[in-house]
Amino acid sequence: LSARLTDTFAKLRTKGKLSAADVDGTVREIRRALLEADVALEVVKDFTGKVRERALGDEVNKALNPAQQVVQIVNDELIGILGGEQRRLEFAKTPPTVIMLAGLQGAGKTTLAGKLAKWLKDQGHTPLLVACDLQRPNAVTQLGVVAEQAGVAIYAPHPGNTGVEGDLTVGDPVRVARDGVAEARSKHHDFVIVDTAGRLGVDAELMKQAGDIRAAIDPDEVLFVIDAMIGQDAVATAQAFQEGVDFTGVVLTKLDGDARGGAALSIRGVTGKPILFASTGEGLGDFEPFHPDRMASRILDLGDVLTLIEQAQQAFDEEEARQVAEKIASDQFTLDDFLKQMQQLRGAGSIQKMMGMLPGMGKMKDQLANFDEREILHTEAIIQSMTPDERRNPKLLNGSRRLRIAKGSGQTVTDVNSLVNRFEQAAKMMKTVAKGGVPQIPGMGPV
Ligand code: GDP
Ligand code: MG
Repeated sequence: LSARLTDTFAKLRTKGKLSAADVDGTVREIRRALLEADVALEVVKDFTGKVRERALGDEVNKALNPAQQVVQIVNDELIGILGGEQRRLEFAKTPPTVIMLAGLQGAGKTTLAGKLAKWLKDQGHTPLLVACDLQRPNAVTQLGVVAEQAGVAIYAPHPGNTGVEGDLTVGDPVRVARDGVAEARSKHHDFVIVDTAGRLGVDAELMKQAGDIRAAIDPDEVLFVIDAMIGQDAVATAQAFQEGVDFTGVVLTKLDGDARGGAALSIRGVTGKPILFASTGEGLGDFEPFHPDRMASRILDLGDVLTLIEQAQQAFDEEEARQVAEKIASDQFTLDDFLKQMQQLRGAGSIQKMMGMLPGMGKMKDQLANFDEREILHTEAIIQSMTPDERRNPKLLNGSRRLRIAKGSGQTVTDVNSLVNRFEQAAKMMKTVAKGGVPQIPGMGPV
């Protein structure tokens, strides 16, 4: 998803004014990218419809930089679909607050029970974990381990209350849930987290069990836990659980994997239920409240493009950009201008920081590693060792002049050569900038 969208936006960013055809082309790409990421068709349609309408509207034509405005619209609409503001956990008026977890086997419910318990405990609450997964032989033990790690209490069936001597896996999960909540009330726990069983696929028996547990304990929140990597099945699974159990919120797990978050978009779009938490690893600390804006950037893989553009614009204020453009047009862009630009960029924050905000950073990691601030200092030293004539006209730089400059700046002739090459590349790139009007970082390729 991301590579394609990044390309699309890169194309957009090199344009000044947008035509209706540009907008349509972009919307088509967004649509295809979302479908490829397994976002449900109806969600995609709704989304692209809104983006198209706004992008063709007045707000873009009047915008200073229409391409940037379209990026902003896509981002806004994504945040909108993902729930806008962050939704917090509902607390019961009279404790305990009862939270029930539901979802397929392997989704991460038991792990989440521990994460949630630790998170609540860290805020001064006294959660009780209740083990209602009596399907899998080790499920109760697993919750016990998690409870110990989180340092919270657990209510689990034991021979006395499963009804079957010595067998933890047979028993009535509904009864365990009800007894667990009663236990929490009598022992003054202010939260109860009820872990339930899952199956590999949705099945009627499981759904009935979850529904019965829900009916028995009347939870304040029913959290549907779903693996973000689930892809195509996200919508069907979410709908089945919505009908079977009817959840109040969603938790996305395994966001530490490659999943871009297409599932998040689909589930939210189809069920309308808010995403409350994001789980990002196997450790109990790998957990956070869900931030729609962060997920939007993740889906777009835009990094913090807007901030980057703003910073770059501050560095190259428009008047200056125009002067540079004129110089380029008349072939008067000099090494002095090049130096000045580098210094301005440094003023806008370190290059590394700016690089960190670029989209598609994966590909550019090597470049990032090779590019550090010292290089700018070396560049400065080299340019400052040139005569004003040489700075204005790099064609003067023959072998003996380059040797003199290398010695004067404490760098090698190779360094001098590479700087002159980079300058020439940058000058070429600046010509593109002059045509497109979008700032770019010298030597770094398009933003
Ligand atoms: P349950 O069947 O729904 O209770 O799922 P579990 O909590 O037992 O988790 C299934 C597997 O997924 C376990 O190996 C967990 O360690 C792992 N897991 C759970 N949440 C995450 C997560 O956010 N990231 C990763 N990488 N693994 C997770
Ligand atoms: Mg489990």
